[in-house]
Amino acid sequence: MAEKIRYPRLFRAFSWTLLAIGLAFLVILTRATPPENWFPLAVFLPLVLVADRFAILMPGNVYLSLETTFHLACALIYSPVMAAWLAGISTFISELVIFRRLPDFAARTAGMYIVMWLVGGAAYNALGGAVPLNRLAGPELGYALLLFLTVTAVNYGVMAIDSFLRGTSFSDYMFRVAPRIVMFKAAFAPFGISGAVTYTAFGPIGGLFVALGFLTATVAVWGLQQVSEQLQQRMATLDLLNEIGQTISSSLEMEPLLNLIYEGTSRLMDASNFWIVLYDRERGELCYELIYDQGQRYPPERLPYDPTRFLSAYVIERREPLFLSTQEEVQKVPIYLETTGSGRCPESLIAAPLLFRGRAVGAISVQSYEPHAFRREDLEILMMMATQAGIALENARLFREVEASQQYLRAILDSVDYAVMVTDLNGRVRLANRTTENVFGVHESEIINRPLADVIGHQSLREVAERITRGEVTGRESIQVSLSDDRIMATQVAPILDAQGERVGYVLAMADVTALHRLSQLKSQVIRIASHDLRNPLQLAGGFFHILLEELPPLTEMQANLAQRITHHLKTMERLIDELLELERVEISAERPEELLDMGLLVQQAASEYRWQAEMKGLRFWTEVTQDISPVRGNHRMLLQAIGNLLDNAIKYTPEGGTITLRLWEEGGEVILTVKDTGVGIPPEALPHIFEHFYRAHQPGTEHVSGTGLGLSLVQSIVREHRGRVWVESEGVPGKGSLFGIALPAAREQPERYPVDLPDQENMVQ
Ligand code: ADP
Repeated sequence: MAEKIRYPRLFRAFSWTLLAIGLAFLVILTRATPPENWFPLAVFLPLVLVADRFAILMPGNVYLSLETTFHLACALIYSPVMAAWLAGISTFISELVIFRRLPDFAARTAGMYIVMWLVGGAAYNALGGAVPLNRLAGPELGYALLLFLTVTAVNYGVMAIDSFLRGTSFSDYMFRVAPRIVMFKAAFAPFGISGAVTYTAFGPIGGLFVALGFLTATVAVWGLQQVSEQLQQRMATLDLLNEIGQTISSSLEMEPLLNLIYEGTSRLMDASNFWIVLYDRERGELCYELIYDQGQRYPPERLPYDPTRFLSAYVIERREPLFLSTQEEVQKVPIYLETTGSGRCPESLIAAPLLFRGRAVGAISVQSYEPHAFRREDLEILMMMATQAGIALENARLFREVEASQQYLRAILDSVDYAVMVTDLNGRVRLANRTTENVFGVHESEIINRPLADVIGHQSLREVAERITRGEVTGRESIQVSLSDDRIMATQVAPILDAQGERVGYVLAMADVTALHRLSQLKSQVIRIASHDLRNPLQLAGGFFHILLEELPPLTEMQANLAQRITHHLKTMERLIDELLELERVEISAERPEELLDMGLLVQQAASEYRWQAEMKGLRFWTEVTQDISPVRGNHRMLLQAIGNLLDNAIKYTPEGGTITLRLWEEGGEVILTVKDTGVGIPPEALPHIFEHFYRAHQPGTEHVSGTGLGLSLVQSIVREHRGRVWVESEGVPGKGSLFGIALPAAREQPERYPVDLPDQENMVQ
């Protein structure tokens, strides 16, 4: 709950004592005054209150009103004691009602005015000053002026004590404020004196006319002042908003904007205390980004978000502006109201939430140590600034967040071993990580915004870059790039898609695979040399063995069995070597799949080669080929080998009496081929490994079937080389068999014709 904020104890004691003493003297001095003599009070009181209501604010923040003029006229027409009553009552009412000050303060003012007029009156009487004043010349005029000076001198003295007791700047009051008050009051003194003389000469009506004339003039000046002030304020506000707009559009940094808002605000209103707070929702904290107290900047602070303790959180929570003009109003707010900075308590304040898309993202407040420092227009200005500041600060905050996450991403990108480059849709480099800089020996700044094709002078990359600019790279692509210094980079290019699936750029990731490449080359070399060196002696051994068998006398059953086994194993070894060499050839892409092939013809060719073998084993062999199938781009020998391997397996793993079905059709832009058998099937646990090098599933009943475990690997490599898919389906149930499928992308052009010797029309399905 708010702590009651009060004036210093000494000041309060001084104020009430002064008032009590003044009143005591007044009561004693006027105890014998008959009731009809109080009438002047009824005339002067409204005049003085109206004068106070239309007090004109003069340069130096000093109010000028006809108040003292009327007090003086009253003293010179009736008596200084009546003027003391008038001054006491009128100032007490105006302090409370018009200027909305605390009773302690009103007591001080009323007490001071009573004492001023009592002292002044005593001096005037002692000199023998005339009441009513009837001459604007001679000693009478002198005494009247002296009365005014005495009153002013007492005023000056009491204010000095007051400023000392209240702890406000004594020197500021003595040398800046007080001389101005005296000057302005002195300027009005002649009106009071001449008013009194007019009254004496022309009676009460004449005096009233003069008084009303003065009053009308001050009200008119007051009105003009209001209008001009409003205009000035509006212009200054427009200027400021304009400036804020420019700052927002020219920079995303917060600091210049915050300073501008502070400077602009302090030009427009009393920004003795000023702060801008941002609400950090995630951490539940208030960040006081800018704090100014009496012109001094305080370092930023972070405080917990507590709407029951801090004004900023209170405003953010309620999402409504606050307008408090007096201590009383300030005290009604259920929070502790110390100013951020010096920690004093403001007498009036305005505050507004910073709103961004309906959410309160912070708050701004201007506070003064004087009551009534702000007008409704000031709050309007503050709210306008809050709107601007809300947008700008939220943008700046988002920018900072984006920047932080960008730095985070950057750090991740820089720490990977891949050279990563990001291009826009036109193939211009937008980002390159540190590995890119190291690999290509360039600095990021040298390649940013340059076309990718210019950055890397490699032919295949340039082709990719050109395809990127033509928008032809629609999916992930892999290429191998050899740099001029013999390094090999495995490169992947892929489009970057936004949330709507629209392409927004491309990413290239390059890994240095030189070492792997060398290893692979070495492996290929070893396989080639070993295979050739093995194949010759093996063929020789086979040949010699054959001759030997022919030369030998008829063999016993056991010898014949052994001889058969030797032949079988020699053949298996020969096949292993052949398949290894073939696999190697496919994997190093020695032959490129470049012809346009009619798959129908190719399937018939394969079928005619294997039909005989199937029938020999007592299997039924079917082919189903649909007509008008698009050609595929490929290598005839390789594809024939792949289909052959599938058919060979189907025959091998299907017992006598089974069926093998070879199908070919086109679907969804793909030419699809399947080989289905009714053989032993493949157990589910073997399915994921079936295409691995040297993998054999060893199903029951296949123990006698020889093989190398390379046939399906070869099929897979060939299909991949053709950018196709290969798959297997089997429930692992003997008799239900397996299905192997190959899908190749259909090419649109017509195939080149090539000779096919054995067309197989018998089982063609139309
Ligand atoms: P292999 O030379 O052993 O046939 P493959 O790579 O061609 O080598 O095949 C790997 C394994 O897959 C074979 O050992 C076999 O267990 C299984 N397999 C391949 N085709 C079939 C099929 N049509 N039916 C059942 N099992 C098969």
